[in-house]
Amino acid sequence: MKRKLAALVCACLLLTGCGTSQAAPEQTPLQKTLFAMDTTMDLQVYSDDKTLLEDAAALVEELESHLSTTRVGSDIYTLNHSGSATLSPDTAQVMGRALEMCRDTDHALDISIYPVVRAWGFTTGSYQVPSRETLDQLLPMVDADRIDFDPATRSAAIPEGKEVDLGAVGKGYTGDRLSTLLRDRGVTSALLNLGGNVQAVGTKPDGSPWRIAVQDPLNADGFLGVLTIADEAAITSGGYERYFEDEAGNVYWHIIDPATGCPAHSGLLSVTVVGPEGLRCDALSTSLFVMGAEKAEAYWRAHQDFQMILLTEDFQLLLTEGLADRFTLPENSPYTPMVLSAEAQN
Ligand code: ADP
Ligand code: MG
Repeated sequence: MKRKLAALVCACLLLTGCGTSQAAPEQTPLQKTLFAMDTTMDLQVYSDDKTLLEDAAALVEELESHLSTTRVGSDIYTLNHSGSATLSPDTAQVMGRALEMCRDTDHALDISIYPVVRAWGFTTGSYQVPSRETLDQLLPMVDADRIDFDPATRSAAIPEGKEVDLGAVGKGYTGDRLSTLLRDRGVTSALLNLGGNVQAVGTKPDGSPWRIAVQDPLNADGFLGVLTIADEAAITSGGYERYFEDEAGNVYWHIIDPATGCPAHSGLLSVTVVGPEGLRCDALSTSLFVMGAEKAEAYWRAHQDFQMILLTEDFQLLLTEGLADRFTLPENSPYTPMVLSAEAQN
């Protein structure tokens, strides 16, 4: 796995809102930047109600205090350290949906991957390549089906040695909750960039869709293309977001294949998923990256409630047909997009 990615940027630059409003001056958005969930978040909200931003920031803080794996006393910390916990309504919601997605993706997503993620040092930044023996000892712990969760009582329990990590879906859920908060308070126009996970409330104030740039994983200064979105999430996962390199130049990234315990090498460099629900898009961006192009395409055909953009290691840019008119490549793009049709190929 020799791949020099030294020039690549962190997740916070992954997707950048580039749709500044062309609306009248009185429609200047309220703006707030905060650091939470290990990333930089930018909120852009068209409203006169300045308390909205404070309330949005408080909601992010509250969600992090429940969902975090590292904060002492969070639902997930308690579950991981004592083997059982009664989850807050938000954590229970994320847990229930995430477990469904683990099953639905045939465990390409597995929220019990945490012991393996830690063995690679991604939880602390003290990176290391674990031995095969260590991984083989940890892999039996990775099986989300063995998480005992009762949505009615919100009680969760895990066997000894097992640990849960909602990192692959938490920011998507946070985007959903923020969007609902803003809509409930009458906002019809907002763009939320949660460390590269973009969530749009409505359209730009002039009624046109938001335009967001999708990062090119091979060129920190470039972008794959500009995507138009309205009232939906656009969420990207890529190997280049968080990774380390060993002395031989091998690159190891933070998305792990639960089947092997190693960074997923499925032939993809990045996956962007566009759809109405942030949590599902977040779960899918991670799991389709693990699956690789062929399985991702089959999954899309079977479900078709989302659209996606895949960049492969051999520089193929694949777009599902629903994005054909919504994704514009820059003039000097090195890529020729191939549009995937919903009709199964023979
Ligand atoms: P990010 O949150 O960095 O934008 P992702 O949504 O793809 O990226 O989530 C990656 C995080 O999810 C990792 O940092 C790790 O904590 C966790 N993770 C890695 N591989 C998996 C997996 N196969 N299933 C579930 N969670 C994973
Ligand atoms: Mg994800």
